[in-house]
Amino acid sequence: MPVDASPAAADRLRITEIFYSLQGESLTAGCPTVFIRLTGCPLRCGYCDTDYAFQGGEWMGLPEILDCVAGYRPRYVTVTGGEPLAQRNCLTLLRALCDAGYTVSLETSGALTVEAVDPRVVKVMDLKTPGSGEVERNRYENLDALSRNDQVKFVICDREDYQWARELIARYRLDGVCEILFSPSHGQQDPAQLAEWILDDRLPVRLQLQLHKQLWGNERGR
Ligand code: SF4
Repeated sequence: MPVDASPAAADRLRITEIFYSLQGESLTAGCPTVFIRLTGCPLRCGYCDTDYAFQGGEWMGLPEILDCVAGYRPRYVTVTGGEPLAQRNCLTLLRALCDAGYTVSLETSGALTVEAVDPRVVKVMDLKTPGSGEVERNRYENLDALSRNDQVKFVICDREDYQWARELIARYRLDGVCEILFSPSHGQQDPAQLAEWILDDRLPVRLQLQLHKQLWGNERGR
């Protein structure tokens, strides 16, 4: 009779990859970090560069994931996707990583509620711009769940996105809520032009370039 060696459904997650690299974005850009990429995403942003995470992956039990992370002896761990919160057990994983003593961040689309995320986790939450094609998916009530430790990210595709983001920052007074990151959409928005717009408007945001792409291009697992 075959033995079912699969992890118990109660604590397993579908994982696309776990890898160790330099953080490419956010306030810890440049810091060695372990990334846990969860499989699956209900959105389809036009600029998505991780569509290989939409399907596939492997089921892993929580202890196995934690063992894998511990092998790298990291300070920073980032849970990403796909959209990690699309898997129910993501919340358990985040809590377990915090309990293990890591500095944990969550990269999320902003389309699913972040309310139940462990407060020790740094939330790096997108606000999807019109240029993403998924602007109607934003859950603005998520802004109430953000604190000074968190970050919101706008991926800017063009001037229209920039103006939209600028108006949103003013409407929700986002600079009083958390850090604001502006990322030029790779190959779509000229970073230098975006920098000029930010300076002209004295916008209270941080321009970020995807460090991992400068170092390694689109190489997977980097
Ligand atoms: S939310 Fe992220 S993973 Fe999902 S489609 Fe958009 S960019 Fe890709």
